[in-house]
Amino acid sequence: MKLAERMSRLGTETAFDVLVRARALEAQGRKVIHLEIGEPDFATPRHIIEAAKKALDEGWTHYGPAQGFPDLREAIADYVSRTRSIRVGPDHVAVVPGGKPILFFPMLALLEPGDEVLYPNPGFPIYESMIRFLGAVPVPLPLMEERGFALDLDLLRDRLSERTRLLILNSPHNPTGGVLSRADVEAIADMVRDRDLMVLSDEIYSRIYYDEPPFSIASLPGMLEKTIILDGFSKTYAMTGWRIGYGVMPTWLVAAVNRLMVNSNSCTASFTQRAALAALTGPQDDADRMVAEFRRRRDAFCDALNALPGLRCARPQGAFYAFPNIRDTGFSSGELADRLLEEAGVACLSGTAFGAYGEGYLRFSYANSYENLIEAVERIAAFLDRARLSLAAKG
Ligand code: PLP
Repeated sequence: MKLAERMSRLGTETAFDVLVRARALEAQGRKVIHLEIGEPDFATPRHIIEAAKKALDEGWTHYGPAQGFPDLREAIADYVSRTRSIRVGPDHVAVVPGGKPILFFPMLALLEPGDEVLYPNPGFPIYESMIRFLGAVPVPLPLMEERGFALDLDLLRDRLSERTRLLILNSPHNPTGGVLSRADVEAIADMVRDRDLMVLSDEIYSRIYYDEPPFSIASLPGMLEKTIILDGFSKTYAMTGWRIGYGVMPTWLVAAVNRLMVNSNSCTASFTQRAALAALTGPQDDADRMVAEFRRRRDAFCDALNALPGLRCARPQGAFYAFPNIRDTGFSSGELADRLLEEAGVACLSGTAFGAYGEGYLRFSYANSYENLIEAVERIAAFLDRARLSLAAKG
């Protein structure tokens, strides 16, 4: 028996592979600094954990509605309406196990083979994986480092076609930490407003920003009815392992997502939904403290990287990733990432883990302690020194 052909088109997330390799080195007694995985290193805030425990004691251990409990959807609708200056109700909300299903289900529901999908490259690898899996055509949108990794709007205009069915935006952006400016979002909306396509706006990092708050395309006139907002609890409340997220979208698409939920998960875990309700309606100071700490680490880490010869690191405006340009080191991204893991004990990702346009970059997650981040830069500096010396000796 062999796997279906479509499985050959399904990609993966390299971060999990690098984690396995790093753990294997640790098993041999090596110390590895983990800057590969994209999850906050903080504990889930206490009151959220208490809400989950209470929910278990109260018997929230059964199936719930496929779309999510009405009171949680109401709270999400209020929150999204407030933060995006729009008006949506609980009928526009689908609660699902994580942010990822809001990539999987709407794409499954919307795309036919041959449809074109525009997506940022470098970008979250699941976009391209899903596009290919569904037989749709990936149309990459390279990002411009010199403009804080913004989209090239002229290129976007050129690449929009009669076959474009979906445009994926992600701001704050993984892996670059870029945040789209309001002016750029307005220009993008003007390009797509009258086209027969949907926009999937991945806003999973919506609360992790360091300057202006990110601006959602859904806020603009005429865009709400053609936008799917992806958001969730994983990053904002350090709840990656709880598996809960949501989408906000037109009701006709919610109905399709519900049907896919019934066919796959039945529903999102009931007690997890009670914890999510506590997260949204309870105190927000833990979430705010986390962002303040990310900012402190970002400043120190980027400054230290910029002091290394051959590295140039634009200051991320959101999320918790640094994406330095490493071209002047003379290494390819893949080789440098491999050698930093093997020879310096620093686990990071090659920019190419996020698509072909990631060549020339590395991605470091600064969801690790301040001290470990500084030690990581010292190790990278020592590695680059050794590499230069050995090159000079050969040359
Ligand atoms: N979108 C982006 C850009 C991400 O970086 C991630 C997680 O790394 C997700 C979506 C998925 O989030 P979740 O863990 O809630 O499924």
